[in-house]
Amino acid sequence: MHTGTLQELFPAAKLDEPLRRYTAWKIGGPADALLEPRCAEGVISAVKKAKEHGVPVTILGGGTNVLVRDGGVRGLTIRLAKALTGVEFDGNRVVADAGVLYPVLANTTAARGLAGLEFATGIPGTVGGAVYMNAGAYGSETVEVLDWADVFRDGEVVRMPNEDLELSYRRSILHERPGWTVLRAGYTLEPGDPVELKGRVKEFRAQRMNGSPNRPSCGSTFKRPEGDFPGRVIEAAGLKGTRIGQLEVSPVHANYLVNLGGGTAQDALALIELVKETVREKLGVELEAEVRVLGES
Ligand SMILES: Cc1cc2nc3c(=O)[nH]c(=O)nc-3n(C[C@H](O)[C@H](O)[C@H](O)COP(=O)(O)OP(=O)(O)OC[C@H]3O[C@@H](n4cnc5c(N)ncnc54)[C@H](O)[C@@H]3O)c2cc1C
Repeated sequence: MHTGTLQELFPAAKLDEPLRRYTAWKIGGPADALLEPRCAEGVISAVKKAKEHGVPVTILGGGTNVLVRDGGVRGLTIRLAKALTGVEFDGNRVVADAGVLYPVLANTTAARGLAGLEFATGIPGTVGGAVYMNAGAYGSETVEVLDWADVFRDGEVVRMPNEDLELSYRRSILHERPGWTVLRAGYTLEPGDPVELKGRVKEFRAQRMNGSPNRPSCGSTFKRPEGDFPGRVIEAAGLKGTRIGQLEVSPVHANYLVNLGGGTAQDALALIELVKETVREKLGVELEAEVRVLGES
């Protein structure tokens, strides 16, 4: 679609906006149009308008689990991180907008004396991305505390209960429903001692700082294979430090493929393939990428 038309349809959008600015990996070609609506109604009206005019829509949360290809993303990209950021409390129930950052939610709920989301401190994405991915850490996952998510789908907002979201290891039904957009999520937490909970959050954060590479990445690139850990098998296959272009299997943690500066999606995809093939050949283990690939080459 002509960019002039996109500008007319979405006057607040930035055109030809490099998405590497919005991804944790610092990789990604341009979005034809990038919109950051201020409220859920803004998201809904943009998605409706895009549909009416045949403009494809891509949703971006915090960009912490995506690999955007070098050709970028056609049509409209809607970024929710830091835009939809309301959090409401009612007793031990919490409702958080899709753009709330998970570490912020972990801190806020712990400070309120509500237990259950401390694990979220290590996950740098948004509430919407966490529903999409059933994000988890330190032995806990989103599915354990999530009650429902409000999802804009097929022209209406539907409150989908936990069981309808089909949350399993780093997966939800949203993986098979492109275009469905999480607007907010509801959680039920347990009463707890704020001092103790804040201590737990701090401890998790410290653990994370120690074991993670200090370079742009998407976190864990691969899912856990049956009965093993991706970092262990990648290291056992002798791949630590392997490089393609500016992408490297981190010497600190082998499941992190880090961008040494100016890396491309092409290199990242090539390194992902090399890791998969090598691990398959040497150890007979099949690795599956956790990161979601968006856009065109
Ligand atoms: C340093 C680092 C550490 C990490 N550690 C962990 C960890 O411990 N555990 C873990 O589970 N993950 C981890 N991750 C991965 C990532 O943070 C999570 O998967 C997170 O849930 C992704 O959220 P996001 O908002 O960044 O989603 P994005 O990366 O923006 O998007 C991921 C997918 O979700 C979709 N999506 C995002 N928001 C919405 C929405 N509102 N509605 C519909 N679809 C949406 C996107 O279209 C895309 O397909 C880590 C990443 C990094 C960079």
